[in-house]
Amino acid sequence: MQVDRIRQFTNSTFPVLSVYVNRVGNPRNRTSMSARLSELLRPIRELVESAELSHEAAMSLRSDVKNVQNLADRIDADPAQAIAIFSCHGADWSEYLSLNKPVWDVARVGNRAYLRPLRVAETEFRSAAVIFEPRRSVLFIKSGDVFREYGEVVEEAVRKSNYGGFGGYEERGVRSHADAVAQRHFKETADLVFRLFQEEGFDFLFLGGHQEGIDEGSKLLHPYVKARVAGSFVIDTHTMTPALIRDHVVGLEEAAVAAYEAKQVRELLDTAGAGGSAALGMADVLTAVNARAIDRLIVSGSFTKEGAVCESCGWLSRNGASCLVCGSGTRRVDDLVDEIIEATIGERGEVLQVSIASALDQNAIGALLRFPLPAGIS
Ligand SMILES: [Zn+2]
Repeated sequence: MQVDRIRQFTNSTFPVLSVYVNRVGNPRNRTSMSARLSELLRPIRELVESAELSHEAAMSLRSDVKNVQNLADRIDADPAQAIAIFSCHGADWSEYLSLNKPVWDVARVGNRAYLRPLRVAETEFRSAAVIFEPRRSVLFIKSGDVFREYGEVVEEAVRKSNYGGFGGYEERGVRSHADAVAQRHFKETADLVFRLFQEEGFDFLFLGGHQEGIDEGSKLLHPYVKARVAGSFVIDTHTMTPALIRDHVVGLEEAAVAAYEAKQVRELLDTAGAGGSAALGMADVLTAVNARAIDRLIVSGSFTKEGAVCESCGWLSRNGASCLVCGSGTRRVDDLVDEIIEATIGERGEVLQVSIASALDQNAIGALLRFPLPAGIS
């Protein structure tokens, strides 16, 4: 993922400018990209003119602003959903990324790239779709924008010449043989789905085909795979195309992601409600992240809070002028949530930024913890 490369870059002398802009906006919004960038960069230009930065830092940032502004035409011509630009002129570093998911428009300055929208854009779910069809089953996999066929199972022909012709007994024989062949065919299809799960993994599985095929096939799925089933779609297997199947998967995946997010939020709130190892709200999450206790961080929406980070040990706080752990000076940050996300990932915790409206909106941020925090520690 590109974020892993981008996060490597830090600079303590020159500011790093990060700009995210959605390319496809409101169709009624006829404002040109150049005007949108200019508006977005206005606070940054004010920062350049202020006395807050050293002379060399201000000069570098002024060039960054100009560089981004000059990219308006390129952004306009880019077919991507959104664009991320990072620039640190003084260190001769810049990156231009085309994102395949919309993010939110924002411009920020820090000692490293602002990564929170990029992490949202690079969160990809993998979906598999299996078409249970008597003659030929097909299995597809979708990861981000890539949709491809993984494999197929073609049913062996029922050799009628060896059966039938001798009244009812043999007729039944043909039928039961045909049933056995169909059963084996679906079993092989289910085995192929399990192989895909073992080899490449997927978050969601969607079942397609005629209803009878879906019903029969779903019974034969491995329990691990069955647990990933997130929907089904009836499709005419004679006229279907990969593009049509892809459309079904895209629609079902959106609902599956929303359901997944809702389930994660519910689990967090249930754990917190039962007095388990969980933190809700900024104050408790800060305590947890400083204790390196976060197993899974959940952030609701794009809300931000200002804060401070210790230059020496990384201790995070809402407004500490000096670090309570090591006594070093702190650096002010515009988005403490971004720091909490990076600290969590740095300690190999998981992060989920949910886009659905949920009961978590009230607390905005919460976490499942690796161990309970002793009361009264901050
Ligand atoms: Zn410290």
